[in-house]
Amino acid sequence: MHQVHGEGFVQLTKSLRGRFALWLGFLLICLLSGFGITAHQLHRINQFEQIDQELKQRVVALSASVRARPGFGERPPPPPYGDRMGPPPPGASPGRPPRRGRPGPFELHGPPPELREIRLLPETSSLFDESKTNGFYFAIWSRGGTLLKRATNAPPDLPIPDRLDGDTQTHTRMRNDFRESFHFTEMSECVLAGRTIKSDLAALRRFTAWLVAAGATVLGLGLWGAWLLVGRAIRPVEDIGATASRISAGNLAERISVDETDTELGRLAGVLNSTFARLEAAFAQQRHFTADASHELRTPLAALISEAQVTLARERTAAEYRQAVEACLEIAQQMRRLTESLLQLARFDAGQERMKSEHVDLTRLIQARVELVRRSASERGIQIICDLAPAECVGDEERIGQLVTNLLTNAIHYNRDGGEVRVTTGTEDGLARLTVSDTGVGIGSEDLRHIFERFYRADKSRARAEGRSGLGLAICKAIVESHGGKIDVSSEPGVGSSFIVRLPAAA
Ligand code: ADP
Repeated sequence: MHQVHGEGFVQLTKSLRGRFALWLGFLLICLLSGFGITAHQLHRINQFEQIDQELKQRVVALSASVRARPGFGERPPPPPYGDRMGPPPPGASPGRPPRRGRPGPFELHGPPPELREIRLLPETSSLFDESKTNGFYFAIWSRGGTLLKRATNAPPDLPIPDRLDGDTQTHTRMRNDFRESFHFTEMSECVLAGRTIKSDLAALRRFTAWLVAAGATVLGLGLWGAWLLVGRAIRPVEDIGATASRISAGNLAERISVDETDTELGRLAGVLNSTFARLEAAFAQQRHFTADASHELRTPLAALISEAQVTLARERTAAEYRQAVEACLEIAQQMRRLTESLLQLARFDAGQERMKSEHVDLTRLIQARVELVRRSASERGIQIICDLAPAECVGDEERIGQLVTNLLTNAIHYNRDGGEVRVTTGTEDGLARLTVSDTGVGIGSEDLRHIFERFYRADKSRARAEGRSGLGLAICKAIVESHGGKIDVSSEPGVGSSFIVRLPAAA
């Protein structure tokens, strides 16, 4: 049972809601305890101040009665030897009677003031109604400690208060259920007024119980309210968690419903939604890519198999076999180019394509690459014009060479016979610029937005038939971006296209 409770508490401390409620509970307990203790103390002080005031008033009245007694203030006669009022003079033997022939102290001065009867003044008597259960009582002691007078309702075991030398202040003391005020007169007599405070203490206990009950109610209500409010406040967090787990289970189209976009959680949900959207797009792209890649590989593979089957269907001459093997080789080479492009893109995606950082003279590089494609251009009567201003960049010469070759082969491939390819270089705003323009078929505005996507071809059937993979420009874009550059295209169908590459220039 204990363990179950312990586990429940641990669960509570793990949830955001439970933690908040526990902290709030702790805070409320501190605040309520502070408030309760202060209220209790103030109430107690106030209650006792009132009682003390009444007691002091009575002590003053009692003192007045004592002072009004005849003989008060007279110098008390020396006490007879052996009297308990004082020690005998040195040399005197205790209990020895006064000398004969000389008058005794009582004969000269009468009885000492403490032995004369104390009568309470009428206004003082009215302050002590002895018939009241909760009434005030009094007691008066002589300076020797003899009880001179006391109220009938005074408690039987009433000790005389201790006195500090020369102290005539009024003091208050507390004895069990009694509160008492006392004071010593100039004649060292002690007057005391007191009363039972049983009912006051009971009232104080009731007040304390009320405070505790009210505190517990406020604590309970506070915790309950906090539990509800926090539940409401963190509901979006729970929604986010639930949606995230549905998404991780494979439902990428799920989104968190955002009611209030300007709150912290609303903004968080917005950010998560856009992350989920990007994730979904990335997964979709990945799926398309895999599907496209398998499709692209299946086509030449099917051609390869069919070529082989047709060749083997009957006996062939050596020349026919040779022709068939050459066809198969060409298809295999096309497949190799495709797989190499795919591998290269996969390496770019994984950030594993190693890029050197070397000084590249673009003009020299372009001249070399133009020479490689000049023959295929001239076969179709296409003229390559180089307008090369000095331009140098930092990067991987091999990859930038691949980029230039891709752009040149496209410019030749998609050109009209007898057309023109113009290559220019230059620098602008700290960037090296390279432009490859052609006078070919151009690209429609709809296709223009997609031509850098993998496997995208404007003229799908024709391009595939020609063995075009649709990966060339995607690789160009990956190369440029991995150098921190940018590639743009502008085109007009039937007029020609222009590809502009900007790369960080060498310092
Ligand atoms: P492909 O192997 O099909 O050429 P690319 O990625 O190099 O693949 O090009 C993608 C598509 O962009 C091409 O199929 C073509 O439709 C279009 N394209 C690329 N370069 C040019 C160009 N210079 N002129 C016209 N269209 C072009």
